[in-house]
Amino acid sequence: MSDSPQDLFRVTLLGTGAPPPRLDRFGPSTLVEVGREKFIFDAGRGAMQRLHQLDIPFADITGMFLTHHHSDHVVGFADLWLTGWIGRPWGKRSTPLKVWGPEGTKQFAEHLPKAFAVDIRVRSKNYPPDGVKLNGEEISEGMVFYNRGVKVSAFEVDHGGEDLPAFGYRIDFAGRAVVLSGDTTFNENLIRHAQGTDLLVHEVTAAAGGAAENPQQLKRIASNHTTPEQAGEVFARVKPKLAVYNHLLLFGGATAADLIPATRTRYSGPLIVGEDLLQLEIGREVLANPFSAK
Ligand SMILES: [Zn+2]
Repeated sequence: MSDSPQDLFRVTLLGTGAPPPRLDRFGPSTLVEVGREKFIFDAGRGAMQRLHQLDIPFADITGMFLTHHHSDHVVGFADLWLTGWIGRPWGKRSTPLKVWGPEGTKQFAEHLPKAFAVDIRVRSKNYPPDGVKLNGEEISEGMVFYNRGVKVSAFEVDHGGEDLPAFGYRIDFAGRAVVLSGDTTFNENLIRHAQGTDLLVHEVTAAAGGAAENPQQLKRIASNHTTPEQAGEVFARVKPKLAVYNHLLLFGGATAADLIPATRTRYSGPLIVGEDLLQLEIGREVLANPFSAK
């Protein structure tokens, strides 16, 4: 597939982890390069380092989408935003940054500049003040972005019910589509919005050992997240060209290796467990390529 902007549709998993501060799986964050746009969905720990590994300056990012406001999805935000403003090859942002997300996004975008006011005041002498502006927008289900044939839609998911508004996202371009689940338990609305997608990137949780025997913990996990068996049912009903797990929430002795066999009880189609910097090219087929430095 050509890399010309007209054709480009590539998803890179910047971080596939969760709250545990692991070095091999950074916090949840996903880069979507589509047409002439580049979006980052969620900003978990280490997103800036991963973006830098790809040699993409933050100046090139069209905007940020947040799935919800659990801290593991946003703690890397200030790093992207502020480090991305510094006038070095990995930064150089000179235009305001748009941030779309559920309830809490406006507050997030208004208060972060207050927390970093001294740094912003001092560095504004050297870097364009517009490059550190945040423009937060709280969205509801439906289309939230359309430009040059690239469409981004949000859909509601169920991440512990009403207390924590959460979205999944669908990106459509040139007859192809990518769906990102965000954080959710098994959810019919996701299945509805994911119909016809080429790639489905889905969160997953698994418990083993002591964690699997703690009914209270299991209940809490089950109301927030999707087990591999449930994800298998989602994949079987959506039938994507490729299903990929990210945001691995592993409790007790559960490991990434447990996920595929458990999913196979319900789904026999193409499936991989994501790794940081895995690149997914959405063409006629969906191809998965491990990252290799240029
Ligand atoms: Zn969450």
